[in-house]
Amino acid sequence: MVFSAIHKLIGHVCKNSNGKKIGAVFLIAVALIVVAFKTVSGSHVYAVYFDDREIGYVLDKDDILEYVEQLHHEESERYGLQVNPLNEVRVVRVKKSAGIQPKEAIVKNQLRDIMEYDVYAYAIIVNGKPTLAVRSIEEYDEVIEELKGAYVSGKDNSVIQAVVLNDQVEARLTQVDPNALYSVDKAAEILRRGTDRQETYLVSRGDSLWTIARNNNMTINEIQQANPQLGNSDRLQPGEKLSLVVADPYVSVSVTEEIVVKEKIPFEVKYQNDSNMYTGATKIITPGKYGYKEVTYLVTKTNGNEVHRETINEVIAENPKAQVVARGTLKAPVAGTGRFLWPVAGGGRITSRYGMRGSRFHAGVDIGASTGTAVLAADSGVVTYAGWAGAYGILVTIDHGNGYVTKYAHNSSVLVSVGQKVTKGSQIARVGSTGNSTGPHLHFEILRNGSTVNPLSFF
Ligand SMILES: [Zn+2]
Repeated sequence: MVFSAIHKLIGHVCKNSNGKKIGAVFLIAVALIVVAFKTVSGSHVYAVYFDDREIGYVLDKDDILEYVEQLHHEESERYGLQVNPLNEVRVVRVKKSAGIQPKEAIVKNQLRDIMEYDVYAYAIIVNGKPTLAVRSIEEYDEVIEELKGAYVSGKDNSVIQAVVLNDQVEARLTQVDPNALYSVDKAAEILRRGTDRQETYLVSRGDSLWTIARNNNMTINEIQQANPQLGNSDRLQPGEKLSLVVADPYVSVSVTEEIVVKEKIPFEVKYQNDSNMYTGATKIITPGKYGYKEVTYLVTKTNGNEVHRETINEVIAENPKAQVVARGTLKAPVAGTGRFLWPVAGGGRITSRYGMRGSRFHAGVDIGASTGTAVLAADSGVVTYAGWAGAYGILVTIDHGNGYVTKYAHNSSVLVSVGQKVTKGSQIARVGSTGNSTGPHLHFEILRNGSTVNPLSFF
């Protein structure tokens, strides 16, 4: 539709420039060439010529000429613009003969159908080429204003510095088919988008730019170009309308604006060494607080897409507050030394050794001590079990990380938990008589690569 209108417009421009219709160009009313003699009633009629073609006969010359005037007037009213007839209507007096039948109504209807007009209007010329036309110079000005306003954000934080048309645009008085005229809004839209084609997509739940692009044979970049409002964000709201037509502007518009944006200032993190915490452990002592600054940017967007940004001012509204973090310096317990410490505080006494005991094998050493006596980690390591374990009663198991594991059974209570690092000699439980036990004692096992060994061979 746009292209046909432009074609029509160009067609008219060409027609006018080759001078074929040059007479019509400057005439407001149709040129009527009347070859007339005084009508002699009864013996003469009038032949009506449309350009050079005879279209019929009438009796009354004035009546038909007035009718033509009336047609021009009606067309002018219809378009709200003075129209220029493109055809000549001539009336020629002829002698009435047997074959000639004056038919006023038919001639009038025919004239109404075939008369063509153009109007003086303003073609919008972009870089020397006519694009489309509007009715008046005032409408042309409105189109330009609308174009310039199309990309102005109008946001509170924005002050427009410049709006520039990047193409050379001018108006030229010309004659066009009145049906080819555009409204201000439509004209501005076409110059801005390069088309008046509308194709929109309604976003539904689960849609992404990727799926929409793929389903419409477009690239993500094209979708973003067709929808400058998206910016760099690829978040879509269900119900949002996206254009699927990439703009190819006839007239490119650059808007430069100053925008003021409140931005976060990150806080600094200060560390304080803490010798009571293991290396690698941290704890926030004073939480940090973001600061704020007001930054003024000078942003240029061309056809809605940002092409340039520079910072022109920065004012700190609130300084950030540093975060203070304690950082442990205590050396974490290392893997076991391979040498063991006696696991009962105060020593106790050996009540049963490692090895066969009757028909059953005794996998550890029993150390009798009163209930509540401290049970100590025989070497540094990580607690891998701490709790009830059937015949063992309350059991603690420590993995020393060097192939050795120690077990401490029948405790009355446990003081460590699984995953905890323990250092050699630290208290892990209290002596008791839980599980398969007849009196308070510690059943102590040492395993090397998964098999029990005689604990007493280490002391
Ligand atoms: Zn035992």
